[in-house]
Amino acid sequence: MKFQKTAILCFALMTLFSCRKKNNLEEVVQIPEPEAQATQSAYGNPADVKAAKGKFKMRGLPYAYTALEPYLDAKTMEIHYSRHHLSYCNNLNAAIKGTDLENWTLEQILKSSDPNNMEIRNNAGGYYNHNLFWENMAPKAGGQPKDSLASAINRDFGSYDAFKAQFVQAAGKQFGSGWAWLVVDKTGKLAVGSTSNQDNPIMPDMPISGTPILALDVWEHAYYLKFQNKRGEYISAFFNVVNWATVEKRYLEAMKKTQLIP
Ligand code: MN
Repeated sequence: MKFQKTAILCFALMTLFSCRKKNNLEEVVQIPEPEAQATQSAYGNPADVKAAKGKFKMRGLPYAYTALEPYLDAKTMEIHYSRHHLSYCNNLNAAIKGTDLENWTLEQILKSSDPNNMEIRNNAGGYYNHNLFWENMAPKAGGQPKDSLASAINRDFGSYDAFKAQFVQAAGKQFGSGWAWLVVDKTGKLAVGSTSNQDNPIMPDMPISGTPILALDVWEHAYYLKFQNKRGEYISAFFNVVNWATVEKRYLEAMKKTQLIP
């Protein structure tokens, strides 16, 4: 009887001990900090990137460098915004300093400045194109356009899939550095095309003309770290982060500007 009691007591103590041990083990398993938070601080804050003194400013990004992961990687975003885009902005300011162009709007510079002045053409284009590029992406975006933009795409391309195929082809076939575009042309019709270097559809005598509403950077600096030579994979990834809401907003503004809608 005494032996039985002792055995039960021992068993109870052992069970308790093993449970405690198990609980202790569970307690030492630390839940790591969310990776996004950790990496976000490692890459810095886009709001801290400031242009040198001049007419045009860095406008910040509407999201963190890490926000478009896993489609566009944080390192590329950080280098692209804080170095490439910053250089275009600073170089543009330096190129127009002390000239009449300091009093022109960016659109006027793109439309009417001397196209043979490559310093202004490349840097004004680079500044404008990247501003549009950042705005037309967002985390938790992608999918398909809605409402009036969806109707216009169906009207002018036949279907969303037909538009996408045309855009993917324009981006993929652009030889060397450049951009793919969706624009509203002067008749209010949507069109897709590409331009070289930092040219854009606002500049005169381009292969595609109109008001840009969606831009895709196909310079290698936009994708090489993550995708290397696989530009096609980068283009596919881009469609997961297209912010169709801002593209539609630009579409409506462009239509208003051409007075094609009341
Ligand atoms: Mn770029």
